[in-house]
Amino acid sequence: MIARIDLHTHSTASDGTLSPAELVHAAADEGLDVVAITDHDTTAGWQPALRALPRGLRLVRGAELSCRWSGEQPPVPLHLLAYLFDPDFPELAAELARVRIARAERGERIVALLRADGIDVSWTEILAAAGGGTVGRPHIAHALIQAGLVATTTEAFGPDWLGERYRLPKDDIDVFRAVRLVRAAGGVPVFAHPRATRRGRIVPDELIAELAAVGLAGLEADHEDHSPAERAHVRGLATELGLLVTGSSDFHGTHKTVRLGAFTTEPEAYERIVAASSGVTEVASG
Ligand code: AMP
Ligand code: FE
Ligand code: FE
Ligand code: ZN
Repeated sequence: MIARIDLHTHSTASDGTLSPAELVHAAADEGLDVVAITDHDTTAGWQPALRALPRGLRLVRGAELSCRWSGEQPPVPLHLLAYLFDPDFPELAAELARVRIARAERGERIVALLRADGIDVSWTEILAAAGGGTVGRPHIAHALIQAGLVATTTEAFGPDWLGERYRLPKDDIDVFRAVRLVRAAGGVPVFAHPRATRRGRIVPDELIAELAAVGLAGLEADHEDHSPAERAHVRGLATELGLLVTGSSDFHGTHKTVRLGAFTTEPEAYERIVAASSGVTEVASG
């Protein structure tokens, strides 16, 4: 049987809706052999996921780092998946802590903009609902849904709401610094959904080549936000640059419609990630 490997999922440690323990159980129920927990800018889900790890499932500890490329103005936001890094590596841990604070400040400012337009959402309630996890626009989207202002998360991310009108940048990590820090922490950096034009601006292939030269290990090709042509383009670029290729669900529980294991990674690519890592080990229970 071919292993089913999903290397990009979110829990309540950031903007997913399943707790880390529920996430690993859902992964096992879905028939996955390997799952990575990759919450935004935090490793807070690692311990509870480990403690709840069902027999037969392998856990890859990771995170999705909020980064930016300053080659254009305003800078282009992008996401870097980081696998199996040392969570206590000081400079990386400090960057993640800084981004989490910046996210909370930005969320509060978004809410202030909404309230200035007479939209009755409460930052205190949004923070409480995030339950200590990394706060993001999906939490604000949830408040807009509960207030009956929009029907779905997709609508909340439309141009009239969090996608444009009430969109504010956050103070992300410079992507070159992020790649270097992940490597220095023994981790393996993989560019998440690099061609997802439907999310907004994307970076040029030249940047990806520059990142490969400083330690980027792979590209996420199979992702619901990539069209078939975009997936093929990413694969071609990875071959050209000698990078590994992943496929993942980017599961967020009910904050998104995608299912766990909707896209998966080839065992060879997964083995390359494990072989290149030295921060923490992957964990198999039982
Ligand atoms: P933030 O990190 O606060 O800027 O919010 C971005 C997060 O919102 C992403 O990680 C996704 O989880 C989610 N997201 C972005 N675009 C959409 C969308 N169109 N529909 C649903 N969720 C989205
Ligand atoms: Fe997210
Ligand atoms: Fe992402
Ligand atoms: Zn993600």
